[in-house]
Amino acid sequence: MSMERRDLFKLAGVAAAVAVVPAVVTTEAKAAAKTSGKSVVIIGGGWGGLTMAKEIKKQDKSVEVTVIEKKDIFMSCPVSNLYLGGLESMTLAQLTHDFYAPAQAHGYNFHQGEVTAIDRKAKTVTTTTGTVSYDILALSPGIAYDYEKQFPTWDAAKINAVAHACPAALMPGSEHLALKRQLDNMDDGNVIIVPPASGKFRCPPAPYERTAMVANYMKQEGIKGKVIVLDTRPGKFAKAKAFKEAWKDEFADIVDYRGESTVTDVDTAKSTITYKDAEGKSHTEAYQVCSLMPINKCSPITTMAGIKTNGAGFAAMEGYTFRSASDKNVYVIGDAVGHAIPPSGQTAIWGAKRAAGQVVAQLNGKKNDPVAGLPEKAANVCYSMVNGAPEEAIMVTHEFHADPSGKLKGKGAVPKPKDGNGKFRSQGVGKALHEWYNGSIREMFS
Ligand SMILES: Cc1cc2nc3c(=O)[nH]c(=O)nc-3n(C[C@H](O)[C@H](O)[C@H](O)COP(=O)(O)OP(=O)(O)OC[C@H]3O[C@@H](n4cnc5c(N)ncnc54)[C@H](O)[C@@H]3O)c2cc1C
Repeated sequence: MSMERRDLFKLAGVAAAVAVVPAVVTTEAKAAAKTSGKSVVIIGGGWGGLTMAKEIKKQDKSVEVTVIEKKDIFMSCPVSNLYLGGLESMTLAQLTHDFYAPAQAHGYNFHQGEVTAIDRKAKTVTTTTGTVSYDILALSPGIAYDYEKQFPTWDAAKINAVAHACPAALMPGSEHLALKRQLDNMDDGNVIIVPPASGKFRCPPAPYERTAMVANYMKQEGIKGKVIVLDTRPGKFAKAKAFKEAWKDEFADIVDYRGESTVTDVDTAKSTITYKDAEGKSHTEAYQVCSLMPINKCSPITTMAGIKTNGAGFAAMEGYTFRSASDKNVYVIGDAVGHAIPPSGQTAIWGAKRAAGQVVAQLNGKKNDPVAGLPEKAANVCYSMVNGAPEEAIMVTHEFHADPSGKLKGKGAVPKPKDGNGKFRSQGVGKALHEWYNGSIREMFS
């Protein structure tokens, strides 16, 4: 508990520092001025946006770059399940960072405000704190939840109640803190985890890593109960064999995976969840803690920009580039892209670097080959912690290639590590997970 309080004080310290450093905030007056002809505005200061801002400045200092972000503190989704699972190696302070340090270090502007309108004719972005003009716009706004599609009979009040009672925690911030508080305060009983029912969703292994980390927490704390996974999938999901092996070896009496389960209702007053099994039979389970992850869609920023998207808002792309199919001055990166590559932080970093090269070439009237370096092995490497004592992780790697369909595509493999004694998980991969995270944070923040 005292560790917990110390972390919160550290977080408060970072927030206070953010409040007193106004130097890099773009003023409205400056934004309203004419662009330099080499002005790039990036919407979203997450994994994709921060990487792209730094990379553009690295490649061409003369480009003026502005990142627009609605939050005033960065928090990481990757490795947040370790924090939820109570691993001492992952504190809240390690998950949070200030936006000003990289902006100052690399010479880009940080504009804090929520984007409310995009005018592609006038080439302006309107935010709650001013209007910014651009020559090239890049979108890295991430995802949104689609409770409405999954539960069409729920009204806004019901959605709000369920979102607060059963935090999805697929977007960083209060949802993770709420879920952690609920786990810290839980009595004996069940934790219910509901992965997104269908469609593309952020970090496909995340719900199953959360299952392992919550089971680890219950085992460590001696909490009697189960982690019940109510999944629509029939046992087939990201890194499924590797997760199932770890659950069976380490948490056989805790993890209770129920495939082909469709959640139909949540009663937040009674703390119960109702679902239908494969035969259509209805069941109701009580929960102490529940994390219900709804179907994902793209952030509304892509539709606000009026670019071509698929039904769920993910951007249609121009060939193998990171440019929108609709506008040669609009780029899209991170989870928002319509390429057939997995939505991950590592992919967002990879795409942001390629997009930065494409933008710098365009601004300098040069050619950029969008298939250069492809196919690229290990373009995405995604780790999941599956045990806490000792810390052991599993991994998936993806090779990205220029598919004849015209899209970038990923091909995944789940390797067994040399130090795993025939298992998918190992302590070496656990160490690599931390190294990957620290390296990614350095990539964005130093
Ligand atoms: C629990 C969990 C575990 C994960 N683990 C891993 C992992 O181990 N490895 C890995 O590679 N990936 C992991 N991921 C996935 C990773 O977090 C995402 O894929 C990555 O963050 C995508 O980057 P992005 O730039 O598209 O979006 P984000 O990082 O979400 O950034 C989007 C930003 O846009 C801002 N924004 C949105 N709308 C507006 C607006 N209107 N105005 C201003 N700003 C706006 C948001 O506030 C946000 O900061 C995990 C995700 C989760 C949820």
